[in-house]
Amino acid sequence: MVIKQQKKLKQGMLDNVMRQFNYSADLINLNPNIRKILSITNNELVVHFPVKMDNGDVEVFTGYRVQHNNSLGPYKGGLRYHPTVDIDAAKALAMWMTWKTSLAGLPFGGAKGGIQLDPSKYSQAELERITRRFTYALGDNIGPELDIPAPDVNTNPQTMAWILDTYMSTKSPSERSKNMHVVTGKPVGAGGSEGRDRATGYGVFLNIKFWAENKKIDLKDKRYIVQGFGNVGYWTSHFLDQEGAILVGVQDASGSIANTKGMCVEDLFKHTMEHKGAIAGFSGATPIAQSTFFGLDCDICVPAALGNQITADNANDIKAFLIAEGANGPTDVEAEKILLEKGIEIIPDILCNSGGVIGSYFEWLQNRNGEIWQLDEVMEKMHKKLKESFNKVMKTATERELDMRTAAFTIAIERLEQAYIQRGIFP
Ligand code: NAD
Repeated sequence: MVIKQQKKLKQGMLDNVMRQFNYSADLINLNPNIRKILSITNNELVVHFPVKMDNGDVEVFTGYRVQHNNSLGPYKGGLRYHPTVDIDAAKALAMWMTWKTSLAGLPFGGAKGGIQLDPSKYSQAELERITRRFTYALGDNIGPELDIPAPDVNTNPQTMAWILDTYMSTKSPSERSKNMHVVTGKPVGAGGSEGRDRATGYGVFLNIKFWAENKKIDLKDKRYIVQGFGNVGYWTSHFLDQEGAILVGVQDASGSIANTKGMCVEDLFKHTMEHKGAIAGFSGATPIAQSTFFGLDCDICVPAALGNQITADNANDIKAFLIAEGANGPTDVEAEKILLEKGIEIIPDILCNSGGVIGSYFEWLQNRNGEIWQLDEVMEKMHKKLKESFNKVMKTATERELDMRTAAFTIAIERLEQAYIQRGIFP
C-alpha cells in the first residue's frame, strides 16, 4: 500500500510539471521546436554504488542526477535523500528548477537528484560514506561550471561539505580551490554564504508579505499552518512570527499538531532539535489526525514538505485564502482548479521558494570571485531580487489575466524561448 502511494506521488509530479508547462506553452504559442527541446531532459544519470556499513556489511545504493536544461547557464538544483527519489521524481524536480532559475533571471539551468533511501535508518558515519561514494560515482558529471548541487529534503550543509571535500580531493592540489563553488548551501566555515541557511524560508515569507501588501492585508494576527518543519518550514515560520502572524498547525513526517491559540515557533524548533527533527511530542500543541491537517481553520497555508500533498481529495477542505508553496510541486493540477474556483490564491513554487536558489547564486558568485559578503548585504540583495520577481509575476498576471502560476511559467518559458531563438540550434 505504501509503495503504491509512493508510485502515485512520483508519477503525479512528472505529470503535473508537464501539464503546467504545456498549458503555459499553449497560451504563449511557444515555438514548436523549442517546446520539443524543453519537454525532454538533456541528461539522466543513474549510479549504483557500494558502501560499507558500520557492521561491516556492504549495501548497494542507487543515486540519480537529472540535468534538464542548461541553455541559460550551468545546471542547478538540490539533492534529496528520500525513499520516493527515482528517475521520474528527479526529472520532474529538475524541470521545475529550469523554470525557477529562468523566472528569477539567474544564469543557471535546472537539475535535481538524490539517493533513494530513508536516512533515519543510517548512522551519521554511514551517511557520510554514502554521500562521499555518491559524489565519487557522479564524478565530473557535476562541476562548478557544469552542474551545482545544493541541499533539499534530508540533506543539509553538512552533506554539502562532504560533497565539496570529496569532489576537491579528486582534483590536483593546484586545482582544488578553484572548485569551491561545485556545491552551494555549504556551512559558512566551509565556503558557504551567510544567509543561505534561511534563504528559502525568507523568500517564502517575503512572497507572502509582498502578496499581502498588494492586497492591503496586514499579516499581524493572521493564522497560518505549515506542512514540513525542516529548513523551509522553520525559517518561513520564524519570519512570519516576527511579523506577528500566528502558527496554529504543523505537520511533518512524525505527526500533526495544532493549537488554536498559536504555538511558539522557537520552542517548537528547539523541540525538533532535541528530537531528531520531529515535531511529535511538542508540549505547546495537541496532536491531531493527519487527515484533518489541511482543513484546519487558518488564513495562510504553507506546504513545505513533499510534492502532491494538496490534491482533489483534500483541496475542498482548505480554509486558507492563500497557499504559499514552500515545497516543490505540493499542489497538483486537479487541486489547483478547485482552489482557484474557490477564490484561493496560490503563490507558485517556482516563485515562492526561489529565495533558495537566489541565495545559492550569491554563494556561487562569492566563491567564484573570492569574495565574502556580510549577512545584511546578502539579505538586502535577496530582498531586491525577490521583489523584482514578484512584481514581474504580478504585472504579467494582471496584464494577461492569468493566475500566478501560469504568469510565472510564461515569463520563465519566454526567457528560454528567446535564448534559443537568438542562438539557433547547433550545428
Ligand atoms: P527538510 O529535510 O529540511 O525538511 C523536510 C520536512 O518535511 C521535515 O519536517 C519532514 O518531517 C517533512 N516531511 C517529510 N515527509 C513528510 C510527509 N509525508 N508529510 C508531512 N511532512 C513530511 O527539507 P527542506 O529543505 O525544508 O525542503 C522542503 C521542501 O522545500 C521540499 O519540497 C524542497 O524541494 C523544497 N525546497 C527546499 C529548498 C532548500 O533550500 N532547502 C529550496 C527550494 C525548495
